Amino acid sequence: MSYDFDLFVIGGGSAGVRCARIAAGHGAKVAIAETRFWGGTCVNVGCVPKKIMVQAAEYGAWMQDAAGFGWDIPPGATHDWARLAQARDREVARLSGIYGRLLGGAGVTTFDGYAKFAGPHSVTVNGQTVTAERIVIAVGGNAVRPDIPGGELALISDDLFTLPALPRRVVMLGAGYIALEFAMLLRGLGAEVDVIYRADLPLRGFDDDIRNAMVEALEAAGIRHHAGQGLRAIEAAGDARRVILADGTVVEADAVIAATGRRPALAGLELAAAGLAPDARGALSVDGAHATSVPHIYAIGDVTDRVNLTPMATAVGHALADTLFGGNPRQASYQNVPSAVFTDPPIATVGLTEHEAALAGPTDIYVARFTPMRHTMSGRARKTLMKLVVDARTDRVLGAHVMGDDAAEMLQGFAVAITAGATKADFDRTIGIHPTMAEEFVTMRTRTRQVGLTPAL
Ligand code: NDP
Repeated sequence: MSYDFDLFVIGGGSAGVRCARIAAGHGAKVAIAETRFWGGTCVNVGCVPKKIMVQAAEYGAWMQDAAGFGWDIPPGATHDWARLAQARDREVARLSGIYGRLLGGAGVTTFDGYAKFAGPHSVTVNGQTVTAERIVIAVGGNAVRPDIPGGELALISDDLFTLPALPRRVVMLGAGYIALEFAMLLRGLGAEVDVIYRADLPLRGFDDDIRNAMVEALEAAGIRHHAGQGLRAIEAAGDARRVILADGTVVEADAVIAATGRRPALAGLELAAAGLAPDARGALSVDGAHATSVPHIYAIGDVTDRVNLTPMATAVGHALADTLFGGNPRQASYQNVPSAVFTDPPIATVGLTEHEAALAGPTDIYVARFTPMRHTMSGRARKTLMKLVVDARTDRVLGAHVMGDDAAEMLQGFAVAITAGATKADFDRTIGIHPTMAEEFVTMRTRTRQVGLTPAL
């Protein structure tokens, strides 16, 4: 049986582009289809434009901080949303173009269109049916609006990047990565913000010390937060919106943004034609090699709803291409995946939380909380939190968590150490870089507490 292509990739986001490009580099005949924008969510309506807006907000805070260092910043500084949006969009277009060119340069055939299955080895795109020996599904996910009356009135994260102006009052629904990053950046640019979430603390899955510190950070930023609140409805009042909470409280806003999770973008793909179906989570289940239940069809990235992070998606796409076409079978590890939340201050984390480690055995906890030098000078109410989670039996560092300026930049290197199996003794014999916040990780000598099970005698 001969096919038009060795590999057809559906979806030109982080996972799909990397997989297609590397497979082509290994000599495979590869095609890829993308219906919306090359580079996917991260480049176009996610990580990249979001980070630019986070940085824009930071300048506002730094202007205020500067007085503590002797600067006289003229009062009345204003921010031009349209100018930021234009500069941001230019950068996004540049990066998206690079993605397209990388594919062309690697010899990948690109289709600008929506591809769906016509059979186990065939897809239809732009009215044309093509066949492939192997198919990779890398279609990512879409934001979900809350299933409540008026839920359709909520904006989603994509919409932040087409708003013509900064909304004066914003209600953010949810308290995960997107909700908190957007809440903080919009507050930093001058909006009044309410965050509404159903749990007792924001950032489910993060270390509890970090979650509690985030509550303080929201308050320090002047963001009103409503914990433990269900949603009843959203109503329109002219151009304004009214969010009705389960307890009857009404919160008014000019924009309501739903950041209550994302769902794999499988609708319309005609999975049944390939003998596939979504699992109970609405995602595609895969084995360790990212094969679906149909062995020559693979799924990578957010469509598998595992660790929904761009670097994970690219790592998995790369490993799959090496496995299938590079004579180098390997799997990207889902262990110790570092991540950051670009709030103000930002959070970065790698490895186990205190709670997770304590469930597995005796755990030594080291916590430092301090006002960094910059903010003793600036006078901004801002604490840094740094935390190590250490296996009390083996001395291995199992987790590191930071909330503070430059947390993400700081933690990348510590993620290498933890991935390599560093012990607390390794941290202790490492010389600090002074004066930094990061040096705290190698100078934490006094255990804050021990938690978890007592070791068996
Ligand atoms: P998250 O899973 O992080 O957060 C979802 C939020 O919505 C949680 O607060 C959750 O509450 C709440 N929620 C879910 N369902 C409901 C509901 N029915 N009613 C009310 N609240 C609800 O998802 P995000 O959408 O923020 O982000 C999606 C993924 O994208 C992230 O998991 C992350 O992997 C990735 N991402 C990464 C970023 C980064 O690396 N910096 C930035 C942005 C996104 P509860 O906790 O109670 O379940």
